[in-house]
Amino acid sequence: MSSPRDLAEHLRYYRDIGVDGLSRDSAWRRRDGDLQRTTIEPSAPPPDATALESGLAQGAAIRLREIREDIGDCTRCKLHKGRTNLVFGVGSPDARLMFVGEGPGADEDVQGEPFVGRAGQLLTQIIKAMGFTRDQVYIANVVKCRPPENRNPEPDEIEQCGPFLRAQIAAIKPDVIVALGKFAAQTLLGVETPISRMRGRFHEMGPVVVMPTFHPSYLLRNPAAKREVWDDMKLVMGRLANPPVEED
Ligand code: URA
Repeated sequence: MSSPRDLAEHLRYYRDIGVDGLSRDSAWRRRDGDLQRTTIEPSAPPPDATALESGLAQGAAIRLREIREDIGDCTRCKLHKGRTNLVFGVGSPDARLMFVGEGPGADEDVQGEPFVGRAGQLLTQIIKAMGFTRDQVYIANVVKCRPPENRNPEPDEIEQCGPFLRAQIAAIKPDVIVALGKFAAQTLLGVETPISRMRGRFHEMGPVVVMPTFHPSYLLRNPAAKREVWDDMKLVMGRLANPPVEED
């Protein structure tokens, strides 16, 4: 934070997303509850990671590259006809926290990166307010090409693209997935429950838990719901800080 102006801007983020107070307790970000299994500070000495940890991180990066190669210049469904760029996903292959949205919009289609438009800027604010950067988490979508007129992806499109999202999740092995909006939550969990009934609690998806919450686009239209999203993110931060103890 370099100037009062930066600080003011930072505090505006918090106000905008409905954060009502700041904790000075950084315990939840300590090594044992750290967001990435191996945190790499650009200016820091080599990380104190075990060979196993760095091996796992490298393995995930390689696996993600392989998945991207498998997708190739995809023509598996009709969405390829309208795309400028396929939007694979961004972030740390080693992330403990993953965000999954619905599908790229116009800005994402042009830039080839998920959540970079207005909704994406709000998501970036939420990630920052949680104490992280976009490159410490992983961000992807249910479908990788932009649906025309931002319509919902159709069943055949999800069927073709779904295995790639599942492969990304299997490579990254996040502890928590935040499902952004009804569509991502229903697709990941294979249910048709309304988002308002799913949000606010964790749902098991194999070894990963999913926290459904409102989509940032919904928050742009309904700013009052930011408070509920922030409540959900506090549960996520708590889970990352104190993962459940695994029984043998
Ligand atoms: N909405 C989404 O669901 N995903 C994006 O990448 C952008 C907007």
